[in-house]
Amino acid sequence: MSNSKPFPWHYFIRSVRSRIFYILTTALLTYIITQHYKEELLVKIIILSLGIITVAFIHSLFRIIPFRNLLYKFDNIQMKLPHDKKLSIIYEKDEWVLLEEMIHLADHYISQQQDLIENQSEQSHTILENIPNSIVIIDKFENCKSYNSHFQKRFLSDLDCSILENVKTFKVFDENLVTSFKEAILADKCIKISGLYFSKQNEYFDVAITPIHNKDKKVTGALGIFHNVTELKLTEKMRVDFVANVSHEIRTPLTSIKGYGQLLQAYEEKVSDEIKPILLKIDRNADRLQDLFDNLLKLSVIESKYELNMSEISVRTLFNLIEHNIKAKYLGERITFIFKIEIETILGDEMLLEQLFTNLIDNAVKYARAEQEVIIAINTYDLQNDYCIQISDNGPGMQQEELTRIFERFYRVQGVSTKNIEGSGLGLSIAKHIVNKHQGDISVKSQVNEGTCFTIKLPH
Ligand code: ADP
Repeated sequence: MSNSKPFPWHYFIRSVRSRIFYILTTALLTYIITQHYKEELLVKIIILSLGIITVAFIHSLFRIIPFRNLLYKFDNIQMKLPHDKKLSIIYEKDEWVLLEEMIHLADHYISQQQDLIENQSEQSHTILENIPNSIVIIDKFENCKSYNSHFQKRFLSDLDCSILENVKTFKVFDENLVTSFKEAILADKCIKISGLYFSKQNEYFDVAITPIHNKDKKVTGALGIFHNVTELKLTEKMRVDFVANVSHEIRTPLTSIKGYGQLLQAYEEKVSDEIKPILLKIDRNADRLQDLFDNLLKLSVIESKYELNMSEISVRTLFNLIEHNIKAKYLGERITFIFKIEIETILGDEMLLEQLFTNLIDNAVKYARAEQEVIIAINTYDLQNDYCIQISDNGPGMQQEELTRIFERFYRVQGVSTKNIEGSGLGLSIAKHIVNKHQGDISVKSQVNEGTCFTIKLPH
């Protein structure tokens, strides 16, 4: 018993010391008073009592000052406790009872909190383990602090198990990914990387890195989530390869059909007049087929393209190039470009953006009314978060009900204005895909017989 609850000797000695101090003080006072006031007993008693009271008062005051701090702390703890756990009337209790109650309460509360923390950690563990992605938490010093078994299997299996506790990120990831983690922590921003290839694993992952904050909103580390997209990547690659192969395989016989058709046309005198229009039709349809496969291939490549080749593009240079190409394609047509360029550069994939604006401007010329001068106005200006590019023409325009459908694959407006104009119905679908890839927006306004205006917004 003495082992489990040792007797608090030092408190006992302190208490005895305090009492001896009182006895000695009283004796000393009695001696001094007896020396000074020899005859008057009443005066002696009064002065002795006053002396003892003063000493008791000062002594108690010094003992109570630290207890006052303790009470103040109790009060603070009380405020943080749930209502039903509060001690009743704190200042009316005996100090030892109060201390005991408070310690008992704190003990009870700490055990409850421990249970809660253990339960929560168990829950988090279950959640982490059951998410099919690989998850890792990295601290400020680039140590992998915590991870689920998917992460361990994928990224740590070839590392020495004894050092797994605090494995450094540079041992697991390549330099670029380590830099991304650092950037997320230092700049306090989320970073997303699509289709990142990990050579050791021979797999592709979409990686999302999110900074982790403490309660003071300070970044203490980062959370990395790795979503395996290897299968998706391979399927998409197969699809692109398939379309590319089909297009290529079809292009060869198509070129030879076109070549033989043109050869026959060249033998003018040997070909009868009835056959000549048929040869022309063969030539035109071969062109159409080639156009269709080219567009299908483009659409498929854009759809599957994982990462854009982003760069700053000079707006003026881009549109000058497109103007030059369009004028070369439609030699002899009256085409006027009116530029109002308020932004110097835009951010995007140059090849795709050239394709996007070429498709829109090509349509403006293609669908223009016969014999009419084509006027294409290109306005570019800066909105708060987006670059805005407007391409307007003075062409035949479209009915309002057509506008919702023209971005669909293979959709072509049926009408007099498009009757003899060749097309696959894929141009605007390609345009929309390119804009979506840039996380932008494309919209159209049109008035029959007045013209059409496409507005493209691309984020800064
Ligand atoms: P395509 O031109 O190959 O038919 P698009 O997807 O480029 O396919 O266009 C879809 C339809 O939208 C076209 O059939 C055409 O009728 C209409 N269109 C597109 N641009 C214009 C324009 N600038 N003016 C009038 N009609 C247009």
